[in-house]
Amino acid sequence: MLIDFHAHFNSDDPALIRKFVEVYESHGFRACMSGGLHYGECDMVPNEKVVEYCRQYPGVLYPMAKIELWNTPPDLSQLRRYVDMGVVGFKFIYPYYEYDHDLYMPVYEEVEKLGVPVLFHTGDYRPCTEDTINRRPVLKNMHPINLDRICRAFPKLHVVMAHMGTRFFQDEASQFLKMLPNLYADLGGCGQYMRLQPDELAAMIAPDLPDTDAGMEGFRKLVLGSDSYITWPQLIGKAQHYYEELLNRIGVPKPIVDDIMGKTVASWLGIDLED
Ligand SMILES: [Zn+2]
Repeated sequence: MLIDFHAHFNSDDPALIRKFVEVYESHGFRACMSGGLHYGECDMVPNEKVVEYCRQYPGVLYPMAKIELWNTPPDLSQLRRYVDMGVVGFKFIYPYYEYDHDLYMPVYEEVEKLGVPVLFHTGDYRPCTEDTINRRPVLKNMHPINLDRICRAFPKLHVVMAHMGTRFFQDEASQFLKMLPNLYADLGGCGQYMRLQPDELAAMIAPDLPDTDAGMEGFRKLVLGSDSYITWPQLIGKAQHYYEELLNRIGVPKPIVDDIMGKTVASWLGIDLED
């Protein structure tokens, strides 16, 4: 059983949700789904609705909640409320300030106590019409360097940087990945897993002294993320194909590939993959 940690709940059309589930089940995948409002121009399905829809597909869809990081202190009580509702992790994207701003640190402190993982968008974000109104997003606010303080301050928090910084910041992202024990990355977005060549990925994950990681343990810092959408479930097949192809060509041992494809996330979520 495999787990996709990065999928988007962008439609509440019951037929499309059913189709999404069928595609995932046909590939043997479960999906962690995030929706949420205020992404600039593209609102997705509200968190409460994501929870409701995921409940209809237990064991396949797992809800995450997207928490807004804006210019006022975030409501901390919502975090426990969401976890009590069944949310298995939190998604952050499109912040007003940089991710490691003082205003947001209590959010991460509370999430660490709640014991669930977090997914941060990092890197590329296409321009859209709302940019002139919010004067955002700000790519430097979503640079992987902003996860450094968070990972150090909250060592028990499992932090995943979506897209591993994209092509803008991928080299720096890979350095943070190696330095910070609780930092993980996905290669989500077809611009990442379809574009990366095995030798590029291998060079980014390899330690500065290659002999120190003959077993390729460094690859355990990757998790599967497809960046698929309810309206575009087919991406999971492509993600699985490219991830496996990349990792096989590099020669990553099978137990580590299994961790990347789902076991690591399953351990965070307390999912028994034999179920
Ligand atoms: Zn995404």
